[in-house]
Amino acid sequence: MASSQIRGVKIAALRAVFFDFDNTLHDYSGAYARAFESAAAPMCTGASGSPDPTELRRRCEEPWRHTWQRFMARQIDDARLWTERSAAVVAAAGIPPNPHLAAAFHRAFVATMEREIRLFGDVEPCLQVLEALQPRLLLGVLTNGPWAIQQARIRHLGLEARCPVIVISGALGCSKPASAFFREALRRAGAAPPEAVMIGDNPETDIAGAKAAGLAAIFLDRVGAGWSRSWGPEPDAVASDLRAATAWVVARVETGTER
Ligand SMILES: [Mg+2]
Repeated sequence: MASSQIRGVKIAALRAVFFDFDNTLHDYSGAYARAFESAAAPMCTGASGSPDPTELRRRCEEPWRHTWQRFMARQIDDARLWTERSAAVVAAAGIPPNPHLAAAFHRAFVATMEREIRLFGDVEPCLQVLEALQPRLLLGVLTNGPWAIQQARIRHLGLEARCPVIVISGALGCSKPASAFFREALRRAGAAPPEAVMIGDNPETDIAGAKAAGLAAIFLDRVGAGWSRSWGPEPDAVASDLRAATAWVVARVETGTER
């Protein structure tokens, strides 16, 4: 393990950079809003009491969050997740249960998501800088979600060929923030915890999870919310975009300077 001695503290040089996927590498929230409202439009008839697509999306936030929590707790599978979510959209539109309408919503939502997802503009320059540091540095994507959907999106965005380590919770028996999830990523990267950094937008799953497993962590604060101490262990850095995060990484690849 390459390392350096800074103020008496031995710090390992970085060998692995792990990125969260949704809202870190691609604009999940933007794509989700566009896909939901497009797919839900046929249910928004303009009749009295019928919500517009934005209002319908707002009404579905809580039931969709609830189904996601049950999915992540492995109480329901991928198919049930989408059956329940689609039925919730129909109900929130004020329409009696209608499996055909729900299935049509799901098909349209998934198809539109695939068209709408795109990498943030700072991803390509970040990857080019970090790829130039290979093979000393290994890149990875660590994401929670159904394996088939996340895998397809990662491939669609061209990340599969560029990031040798891809860990998707749906293919494991655990998810972020569990330390076992990060240990699996480290095993695939052949790196020790102090040799890796996690970059992500979620204080719990990305930052607290990585810190608990012994990795460094960079909180990606694209919206400028700042870091709240109530969120748990402090990240090693807060970056407003991936350019700032990349600069932090590059400085620590060769020298192992203090975090
Ligand atoms: Mg995220």
